[in-house]
Amino acid sequence: MRYSKLFGKTTRDFPKDEVSTNAKLLLKAGFIDKLMAGSFTLLPLGFRVVENIKQIVREEIDATGANELLMPLLHPKEIWNETGRWDSAKEIMYQLEKDKKEFGLSFTHEEIVMDLIRKRAQSFKDFPIKVYHFSTKFRYEARPKSGILRGREFLMKDLYSAHVSFEDMDKYYWEVVDAYLRIFKRIGLEVKVVEASGGVFTKAHSHEFQVLSPVGEDTIYYCDSCDFAQNDEIAKVKEGDVCPKCKKGKIDTSKSIEVGNIFPLGTMYSEKMGFYFTDQGGSKKPVVLASYGIGPTRVLGTLAEVYNDEKGIIWPESVAPYKVHLVSIGENGKADKIYERLLTEDIEALYDDREVGAGEKLNDADLIGIPIRLVISAKTGDKIEWKLRKEKNTELLDIEEVIKRIKKV
Ligand code: ATP
Ligand code: MG
Repeated sequence: MRYSKLFGKTTRDFPKDEVSTNAKLLLKAGFIDKLMAGSFTLLPLGFRVVENIKQIVREEIDATGANELLMPLLHPKEIWNETGRWDSAKEIMYQLEKDKKEFGLSFTHEEIVMDLIRKRAQSFKDFPIKVYHFSTKFRYEARPKSGILRGREFLMKDLYSAHVSFEDMDKYYWEVVDAYLRIFKRIGLEVKVVEASGGVFTKAHSHEFQVLSPVGEDTIYYCDSCDFAQNDEIAKVKEGDVCPKCKKGKIDTSKSIEVGNIFPLGTMYSEKMGFYFTDQGGSKKPVVLASYGIGPTRVLGTLAEVYNDEKGIIWPESVAPYKVHLVSIGENGKADKIYERLLTEDIEALYDDREVGAGEKLNDADLIGIPIRLVISAKTGDKIEWKLRKEKNTELLDIEEVIKRIKKV
């Protein structure tokens, strides 16, 4: 991609009311645009990062045997009344009226997915069913102040699984825990699996995937030597306690960002919605449900919070908008040829071919944060200057060595 042709470049002209690091960096670097509080456009660079995040999520969720589909965002009130959530979730759900009919905008999809499945699966033979989609969620958030970490409109991958027994649900639930751990590892985020309450979703415990960060809105307690961790809303431990699980480690505390949350819902919604199957003996039983969320746009913001320095963002290789940032300093003739070569090697590159000063180009490259920077200038002769965003030193290499190294990174 030629940077001269890219819509959404770096800018100093962005809303200054955003206080969070993720919003400031992403706005300034041209990854997002703000429409109003809690509502952002993903500009082409931000869109590419989110697509990379989604692709990792998709690969790992597909590997659990789930099917991707797409459900509507505009829902009839009647379905939400079946579980009582039209009233109990009023605070967060956007509700509207048109032609004397009432509708809700999707803040989650349990009711919708159950309605979908109950029309198509009645026998024990039809289960388990595992379906997911990536879609927009609308939630009334009182004071969104955490940039893209807390939108009133945001992207979610939500997976739902329906089973004929708690045992079967439980087995799949822990497979999804493993899939989530693989997802966050590939994305480059270190997460803790934290026990938490189920909120408006379930009375049973849920599990949150939390990234330690001072800007997080959650507080968690965790063991410094085993995997024990609890959200402070339910925590039975305090800082300095001996870990109740391994009996060796000490309990530590931290602010954290919730990037994923999974819920063993059981039968409470299916009983309310008359969502039954016929078992082998011919009797009717309520379907056992679980749901599993990850917020790709919150993950985008979390990465910007975790990976940055005073110059800008530092994207992990796996989700970076491009692998390579090629900068021409007054040498577009030479740089064009390198760019063509990268394209023929299937290497995704952002090529800064603008007629602006070297300082501006190099500052922009640091701000945007693509992992590998290549510079072509009068000084580099027939070589290319190689630098990793996360490191300080530069090297002069020939094109073959550059290609070889890019393919290794
Ligand atoms: P929070 O406690 O932060 O308000 P939640 O527990 O209400 O979030 P869930 O219903 O568990 O959120 O949603 C699943 C996932 O969707 C979250 O783990 C997070 O990644 C993402 N998410 C939730 N709310 C938002 C939001 N307002 N903006 C962006 N992403 C969100
Ligand atoms: Mg949650």
